[in-house]
Amino acid sequence: MNEKTKLNDIIKKLGLGGLPSLKELKFILNINEESRQVLAEAARGLSLKAFGNKIYLRGLIEISSYCKNNCFYCGIRQGNAKAERYRLSKAEILSCCKTGAELGFKTFVLQGGEDPYYNDDVMCEIVAKIKSSFPQCAVTLSLGERSYESYKRLYDAGADRYLLRHETADEAHYGRLHPKQMSLQNRKKCLFNLKEIGYQTGCGIMVGSPYQTAETILQDLEFMKELEPHMIGIGPFVSHKDTPFKDFPNGSVDMTLILLSVLRLMFPKVLLPATTALGTLDPQGREKGILAGANVLMPNLSPVGVRKKYSLYDNKICTGEEAAECRMCLRNRISKIGYEVIDCRGDYGIKY
Ligand code: SAH
Repeated sequence: MNEKTKLNDIIKKLGLGGLPSLKELKFILNINEESRQVLAEAARGLSLKAFGNKIYLRGLIEISSYCKNNCFYCGIRQGNAKAERYRLSKAEILSCCKTGAELGFKTFVLQGGEDPYYNDDVMCEIVAKIKSSFPQCAVTLSLGERSYESYKRLYDAGADRYLLRHETADEAHYGRLHPKQMSLQNRKKCLFNLKEIGYQTGCGIMVGSPYQTAETILQDLEFMKELEPHMIGIGPFVSHKDTPFKDFPNGSVDMTLILLSVLRLMFPKVLLPATTALGTLDPQGREKGILAGANVLMPNLSPVGVRKKYSLYDNKICTGEEAAECRMCLRNRISKIGYEVIDCRGDYGIKY
């Protein structure tokens, strides 16, 4: 069978709800430029059908660079003595939201390391205040692993969505990315809890993380089928100089684009961002992500003074611009490829 027929068969299979076989996955992860275009076009057709040429924006507020965890890939791991630490106060977070709301943002993503300062009382107060001040806006949290009760309290305080990348669904691989205090089992449990509580829930992986293989990626796809997430965040692994993974190569942009397309084919309605990590490794990365099937962008709303300190990986882009500039820049970039940024909450399952 030639490459084209093989590719078309896989595209068809994924579109019908099937998982690729390991052989098919290996094939698709290594297709040439011409085939990548065919794949992207098929995926893009589905995102156009689900969302039109509209791109949803999420204003990202990086609330803390303190973290009690020690993930081997991450620049703000506790063990990185060189990391500069900060945490935003409730007033600072609200001020970011105010700026965002004035610019038209309808979703705020509060992300941070696992910082015990933001216990349930503190966090619920912040969430409730954002929701009462900006009732038209959705709040997404991305604060790592917490108990069922904690997720429930935050949900009852008004949080709408939660992002928790599972990082890898392969036990052995998970163990090579994280210290032994952390477990894949708990991570998965958290994701199922979030869904059960009623959050729009997001999982995801880094593409090209150390020790990742086609086998582990297949497990990721299987896990996603089981979880049925509303959002999937994937971006290339980008090495950070002060982590145990400093000597590992960055993930591949092309492979990230291929996987974005695969995910779009498998999950036609899923909210799929073209991530900052993708834009960091390729100046056109986010545009390419959208053309490969992504439908969400997450510009930075954090105070400019702290952005460099939220250093998950090296050379992160957009650390110097004010929120308004970031928004303008993205709007222009996106219109150049025929898409339009729109100001809506961008909830799962709704066409705006
Ligand atoms: N503490 C939260 C937020 C983590 S940061 C949590 O545990 O979910 C958000 C994501 O950034 C992580 O889930 C990880 O997938 C990604 N990330 C961390 N280090 C990275 C690196 N070096 N390169 C690319 N992505 C990275």
